[in-house]
Formats: sequence, structure tokens, C-alpha cells
Amino acid sequence: MSFDYLGLSENLLAAIKDAGYKEPTPIQKKTIPSVLQGRDILGIAQTGTGKTASFTLPLIDILSQGRARARMPRSLILEPTRELAAQVAESFDKYGKNSKLTCALLIGGTAFADQVKALDRGVDVLIATPGRLLDHMGRGNVMLNGVEILVVDEADRMLDMGFIPDIEKICKMLAKKVQSLFFSATMPSEVKKLTDSFLKDPKEVEVSAPTSTAATIEQFLVKFKGNDKIKRQILRHLLNEDDVKNAIIFCNRKKEVKIVNKSLKAHKFNSAELHGDLQQSIRMEVLNDFKNDKIKILVASDVAARGLDIPDVSHIFNFDVPSNPEDYIHRIGRTGRAGKKGKSFTLSSQFDKKYLDGLIKFLGKDISLFNVPQSVLEEGGISNSKRSAPSKEQPVKNERKASKDQSHKVKHTKKPETVAEEVRPTHKKNEKNNNKNNDNDKKQKTVGMGDHMPDFLSR
Ligand code: AMP
Repeated sequence: MSFDYLGLSENLLAAIKDAGYKEPTPIQKKTIPSVLQGRDILGIAQTGTGKTASFTLPLIDILSQGRARARMPRSLILEPTRELAAQVAESFDKYGKNSKLTCALLIGGTAFADQVKALDRGVDVLIATPGRLLDHMGRGNVMLNGVEILVVDEADRMLDMGFIPDIEKICKMLAKKVQSLFFSATMPSEVKKLTDSFLKDPKEVEVSAPTSTAATIEQFLVKFKGNDKIKRQILRHLLNEDDVKNAIIFCNRKKEVKIVNKSLKAHKFNSAELHGDLQQSIRMEVLNDFKNDKIKILVASDVAARGLDIPDVSHIFNFDVPSNPEDYIHRIGRTGRAGKKGKSFTLSSQFDKKYLDGLIKFLGKDISLFNVPQSVLEEGGISNSKRSAPSKEQPVKNERKASKDQSHKVKHTKKPETVAEEVRPTHKKNEKNNNKNNDNDKKQKTVGMGDHMPDFLSR
């Protein structure tokens, strides 16, 4: 089936053709006609399924009639993280290039004044993270009563980040007759409650079960007994031995992200880190460098990497077994995209047992065991001389100079405001952590290893 039968305008079909899409993905097939008919949508889909286009495309056509008024956006797309918001803005530019619609991005980490100017000019599509949007609303910079279409993307992630009360607040500021589209990879009860109260007779669209992973991903589990030093040794061994073109390494905590990246750099790997303590501009720069192949290895936390559209990642490494099994699906979903082959390796020591048991139960099947040589499991087991050279065409390692060049790219911010302002924790456990962390902040102004943040932020 081609895009021609979905009811989209000629302008959009031309933009879709330019994007190189031949046929709609299942979520696009199921969602686009219903959105064009004005129906609410409850989409259960993970990233990588083409869900962004499933709401962006019809939205552009619906909004093509009419004009925006100052400070009164005509549509609102809520995203849990700045990167996702920026990515949706990119999609909007790509698909909306033949339309005259205007788009503005309200995210933390960038100047308020520029955002106010954009709002003043009138905005058809407003893409925002909840925290920054509420800040602007509080200052009277934006009014939501002109919003005709609301999109809440990654609702389960919003829940993880404590945004549900913010979403409720925002939804209450909208006019009664808003068309609402909610997307979530999973449907925890809190998200279900939210969708039950805000969606009117939604069309439910589910494109893959939350436990499913792409068939193109080969998944391996490396089980071992030992400390993080051994874990890093195993990681280096896999990076060297497997045909790694580029990789994302996921850690459960920001602290680990920093340690693993530092260690990889010390071993001359071409790596960079991505986590919530970095300034927005640096996060974007790191991401672009990774997309453009300047950086081969990205060490990331879940929050920072969630939903990032990075085509062609050959390998995913779970340095830690994720504490939330659903994150495993999101993590390994960064590879094996669009029918391409990918591999994932999950490292599990005796300390990961609890999470591993939870993950296997969630997946409903075992992950194939992958054995590494005994020497790799012994302290000091791989030395430079023993390590084999990585592939010549796609070196994952730096030359000495390249390593120096990258080092400026990953700077740490002085203040944690970049992520903290986006996060409104609601769970009691998190509040407790937050208080503890606030105390730490008072004592220690400069952000060090991220241990001032609630645990769930460091995932
Ligand atoms: P998303 O799930 O929205 O993050 O999209 C994942 C990737 O699929 C993005 O790189 C899109 O550009 C791409 N994509 C979206 N729709 C299609 C399509 N119909 N055909 C091919 N690629 C697509």
C-alpha cells in the first residue's frame, strides 16, 4: 500500500517522496486516516515504528487551513525530553517543507527571550517539554485555549520522569473540543488513567507488543562474576572483537556513564557521553557528532537517549541490565532499525541478578549466552598487546590526536538545571530522594558524578 490512499494532500505526498519513504509503516497506515477524520488516538507504539510521522503528517494537513495568532498556538506536541522535542521539530521541518506552517520549540536549556519572540509571531505547531511550557504559561507568554490538536508522545516516559501531574495541568488549560493523540510504548495504569480521562472514544492502535524486539537484532547475554573493572574489560573485549561500526553503551546511572566513557577514552576508544548533566548545546553537539560518524561510541543514560533517532547503529551494549525491563526494549531498539541487522550485548554480573531475572520474566524467553575468553574475566586480563585491532574501515578507536580533539566536546555543566527543570517527581520514593539530593546540592554547588540526582533520573 502506498501513501496515496491515506488521504494526505499532494504537498505532503511530495515531501514524503523526498524523504524517500515508499510505503507507510503499520502505525502510519492505522493512524493517519483516523487523525484526518478528527478522531482521538491512543497509539501503543515504540520509537522506530514511524510514529512521529503518524501524527506529524496529518497534523500538517489539518492545520494547513487557518492562521496562528500571537501567543496562541494551534497545536501542541508534548515530549518528555529536549532531544525528542528537537527531533520532532526536525521531522516537522522535513514533512512540512511545502507548507507555510510555523513551528516553535519550547525546551529547557535555551534562552526564554527567543522562545517568547517565536510565540509572539504566532505558532501553528508548538513542540514543548512540560516543564518549560508550564514556565512560559506561568509568565503569561503562551495561552493554550487556541490549541486544536494535542499530542502527548512517550506518555510512559512522561510517567517515569514524573510529568503526569504537569500533563494533567496542561490538559486542563485546553479548550474542551481538542483532538487528542496519546502515544506510549507501554500502558502502565497511571497512563491508562490519564488517557481514560482525556481521550474521547479514541481509536486504539497497537503496532507491537511491548515485549517485542525487532527480529533483525541478535541479542546476547554475557554472564560473569566480578566487579565493574572486569565489566569494563569485557566491554572493551567485545568492542574490539566484534565487528563494531558504531555503538551505544547504556548504563543505569549517570555516574557509570561518566566512568565508562572516561575509561574508554583512556583506552583510546572514540567515545563520548550523553546524560542529563550536560548542557543542551553539548548534548546536541555530541548527538550530531555521533550521527555524523565523528564519534563511534556513545555512552548514554536511558533518559538522555530515549527515543533518539540514530539510524545505522550496529551495536548496543547494556553495561548494566536495565532496572526497568521495558528500557531493554527501548535500548536495543536503537539497532536493527528499518530491516537492518544489529547486535546487542547485555553484561550481567552477580550484582545484576535481580534485574536480569526481572528482564527474562518480562521477555518470556532467555537471551542467548555469549562466552568471552577466561583471560578477559581475570583482573588485568586484557592488555594492549593482547587486544586485537579493530576493523580498519570503521575504527572505533581514536588515533591519539583524535582522542584529544574529542575531549573538549564533553564538558560538564556547573548546574543540574538542564534536566532538573524538566522533571517534576511525583512518586513518594522520588520525593524522598529529591530531598536528599537537594541537601547534597546545597553542600556541593558543582555537579560532580550525578549522585545528587534521584536514581530514576540517572537511568
Ligand atoms: P520514529 O518511530 O518516528 O522515531 O521513526 C523512526 C525512523 O523511521 C525515522 O528515521 C523516520 O524517518 C523513519 N520513517 C518514518 N516513516 C517511514 C516510512 N514510512 N518509511 C521509511 N522510513 C520511515
